[in-house]
Amino acid sequence: MLIGGCFCGKVRYEVLGTPFDSTICHCVDCRRATATPFVAWFSVRQSEFRFVLGESRSFASSRAVLRTLCPDCGTHLTYQHADFPDEIDISTCSLDVPEQVPPEHHTWMSQKLSWVHVADVLPKHAGSYSKP
Ligand SMILES: [Zn+2]
Ligand SMILES: [Zn+2]
Repeated sequence: MLIGGCFCGKVRYEVLGTPFDSTICHCVDCRRATATPFVAWFSVRQSEFRFVLGESRSFASSRAVLRTLCPDCGTHLTYQHADFPDEIDISTCSLDVPEQVPPEHHTWMSQKLSWVHVADVLPKHAGSYSKP
């Protein structure tokens, strides 16, 4: 089981399922919402994720996307897209041990900042990763 939570510790979660689509997202919305150059996410089935402590706050970063964060410290925790109602994405670096879920690819390379130089050998997708 994977466990994680926000920086201040008031919101905690558990992940019961097996992660898939672990990615580093370079999209503008992730960048602006988190004020970081890119964000690492992984997915699990909706039923395999649960908050176990505290109350997260959610907001719609676009019409189809709902993000949750800690209302106190602001750590971004989850991402849900209306097109994939059975999936929830979790910010990899909110895990207690982010090393447990290394990224498998990069997404939205078309929106990457010019001063971010990706030197790894992972697959790079111009847009979102098309789910098989
Ligand atoms: Zn917090
Ligand atoms: Zn993104």
